[in-house]
Amino acid sequence: MNETTGLKEECGVFGMYDLDGGNVSRSIYYGLEALQHRGQESCGIAVSDTSGPKGRVRSYRGLGLLSEVFKPSKIDELTGNIGIGHVRYSTSGSLNVNNAQPLVLNYLKGSLALAHNGNLVNALELREEMENTGAIFHTSIDSEVIAYCIAQERVKAPSIETAVKKACGRIRGAYAIVLMSPRKLIGVRDPYGIRPLCIGKRDNTWVMASEDCALHSIGAKFVRDVKPGEIVTVNSDGELTSQFLDEVVEPSKQAHCIFEYIYFARLDSCIDGIDVYDARIRGGAALAKTYPVDADIVAGVPDSGLAAAMGYAQASGIPYAIVFNKNSYVGRTFIKPSQDERESSVKIKLSVIGSVVRGKRVVIVDDSIVRGTTIANLIRTLKHCGATEVHVRISSPPFLHPCYFGVDVPSNQQLIASRHSMEQIREMIGADSLGYMPISELQSMVGDLPICRACFNNEYPIDVPDHEIRDLLDD
Ligand code: SF4
Repeated sequence: MNETTGLKEECGVFGMYDLDGGNVSRSIYYGLEALQHRGQESCGIAVSDTSGPKGRVRSYRGLGLLSEVFKPSKIDELTGNIGIGHVRYSTSGSLNVNNAQPLVLNYLKGSLALAHNGNLVNALELREEMENTGAIFHTSIDSEVIAYCIAQERVKAPSIETAVKKACGRIRGAYAIVLMSPRKLIGVRDPYGIRPLCIGKRDNTWVMASEDCALHSIGAKFVRDVKPGEIVTVNSDGELTSQFLDEVVEPSKQAHCIFEYIYFARLDSCIDGIDVYDARIRGGAALAKTYPVDADIVAGVPDSGLAAAMGYAQASGIPYAIVFNKNSYVGRTFIKPSQDERESSVKIKLSVIGSVVRGKRVVIVDDSIVRGTTIANLIRTLKHCGATEVHVRISSPPFLHPCYFGVDVPSNQQLIASRHSMEQIREMIGADSLGYMPISELQSMVGDLPICRACFNNEYPIDVPDHEIRDLLDD
């Protein structure tokens, strides 16, 4: 979760297949640790031994961070040379250990384990269709709908890849999936490429991950991104094969989530050929060009405002400064029960370095404003510490619309920008000036990469259900 705004991450997926037969659970743990920023509410690992009895899957899931869920002895119990893992923030389905992933299914053809990042827009209708034919769901997450679709198709299909292809023809929405069958590791990405997924290799081990920072954390080399609409399969001969879904979206219509670059992805990741750090620097530079100001220092709100602040400083010529000290040992804010408590814990977590701001005109850069209360607290503290002016620059346009593709943007009632003008927001948060990234400048962050920016402009790349249906999908 964004400490100052309340935006919540999505999920992270990871998969590994060691063709030499080595255990993969420890590496999966470290890979997931590198993806922990994408979800902190639950996590899980499922492994299998490709030379053992077909369909014997060992798995463990729990609520909390990886370090809280997996004690070393637990990881050692998970023996096997093929496996997948997941870290989750609950974008659909409630916080409940049953909803933790990977999901493991035992069915007619053996076993299937699946981990998914994203959100479907037709999950409800598929779920009802299956329930009407007798299916019993154990979770409230979209991922179970996908797993059942695949299992249903697999009964008729000659291979798991064909079943995945058929199942993906039935689901609509955003998905990056890693899937483990008894002898194969499969990765698939939706036709629009909304959520990221990449492939890596370490010696004779294939790896798939939401971001390449997870590959590097286990010493694997980046091979390539999975393409939008592509299914990649690693088989027991160690070959990586590729095929495409029937639904083809022309490259210019693809819709990579711009928020991966603004906020979600880790600063050292590179997604679809665009370095996240560079994208944020370019975003900050675009802000400096659009909203210049006379000031003495520029600072970013940790962590995702830091690179954009650097970009603003470089483009404006105003010196970059470290203004906030972050106490990393304060408990995670999302478990605090009320908004007030959440905000006070943000204040404890971020303190202002008084000597840096005293007598200075300060520009602070953050990635977004949702409710506005926390940035207002930071501005008050900056002024209390002696800043003479505080100018706020936001490296995303105002959120005005919900995300249906796996990001938990607060509802319209909670979004300050949906109810107030820019000038009103400036006044409410106590800033001397305020500037949001214009929608027209978002593209400059990522060059030619086609992007989704629907939460800013209401132009969804995929038809979405009306709000009533969406409310039913949410719980
Ligand atoms: Fe990303 Fe916004 Fe599109 Fe959701 S609506 S996928 S958060 S750009």
